[in-house]
Amino acid sequence: MTGLGYTNKIYNQKVMTTRDENHKQKKVCAICGKEFVPLDPRNKFCSLLCKEAARKLNRDRWRNSHPGYNTEYMREYRKRTK
Ligand SMILES: [Zn+2]
Repeated sequence: MTGLGYTNKIYNQKVMTTRDENHKQKKVCAICGKEFVPLDPRNKFCSLLCKEAARKLNRDRWRNSHPGYNTEYMREYRKRTK
């Protein structure tokens, strides 16, 4: 029985290591909270949809903290592109 316990211990260690290795690759999406494995280690979002949502969120947050800036900027931008 001790032999079996020993094997189980090794097995568990192996599983734990594998799990840890997987965990390193896995990330939790900053938007929907889903676990995913990013193709690029810099990826923070599970999908393009979430990336897009994050961009919108950031933009809204930025706008809220810079009231009036966007309208002025857009006015200048339109002037320049005309
Ligand atoms: Zn997501």
